[in-house]
Amino acid sequence: MSGDSKQMSAAARLADVRERIAQAERVARRPAGSVQLIAVSKTHPAEAIMPLIAAGQRLFGENRVQEAQAKWPALREAHGGIALHLVGQLQSNKAEDAVALFDAIHSVDRPSLVTALARAMDKTGRRPDCFVQVNIGEEQQKGGCALADLPALLEQARNAGLPVVGLMAVPPLDVEAAPYFALLDKLARDHDLPGRSMGMSGDYETAIMLGATHVRVGTALFGGRPAAA
Ligand SMILES: *Cc1c(COP(=O)(O)O)cnc(C)c1O
Repeated sequence: MSGDSKQMSAAARLADVRERIAQAERVARRPAGSVQLIAVSKTHPAEAIMPLIAAGQRLFGENRVQEAQAKWPALREAHGGIALHLVGQLQSNKAEDAVALFDAIHSVDRPSLVTALARAMDKTGRRPDCFVQVNIGEEQQKGGCALADLPALLEQARNAGLPVVGLMAVPPLDVEAAPYFALLDKLARDHDLPGRSMGMSGDYETAIMLGATHVRVGTALFGGRPAAA
């Protein structure tokens, strides 16, 4: 059942994505509810987000600190129990703002950011869950730490007291994502990390089959974004 996401209401799109997640959990013989759906609301205004909150969604993702600071305090004021995850690259000079606002950070990818986050956590007393982002396809322009640097970065992050709960990756565009999901799953297992943040609108069911614990879904819930974003 593939819905035309332009015709469907936000609530219907959410129900469709949730059903697909539940189905993938069943097929993968994984416990129901073991996968967290992060509704990635970047570029979308509060009016587009509210119908999803009304339909029961409480976990959202943003990729820019400033945009999230502008949108979320009012939405959180109006609705209880909302969790916010940062899924985009983070500049070290925004670490304190990010720690203050987000409940999890999926883009820890370099030593200077680990240092900045540790300092921000000590200062604010808040300790959002951290995912270390891996440049899983070893692409030139992509965020994420190099595969070869992962062991040292994880050790630094753990020594600095960051609550590292898992790994995150965005596989290369336009190629089969499954091998990259399998690799991220293996890396997480090798490093004893429970969390695997992987899978987006086009491939979250595959990611669940391969062990995703957090899927980051934007377009399938909100429709398309303006081209510049
Ligand atoms: C935008 C974004 C997503 C959501 O992508 P869709 O294809 O719209 O589902 C997921 N992860 C990251 C890191 C993103 O920036």
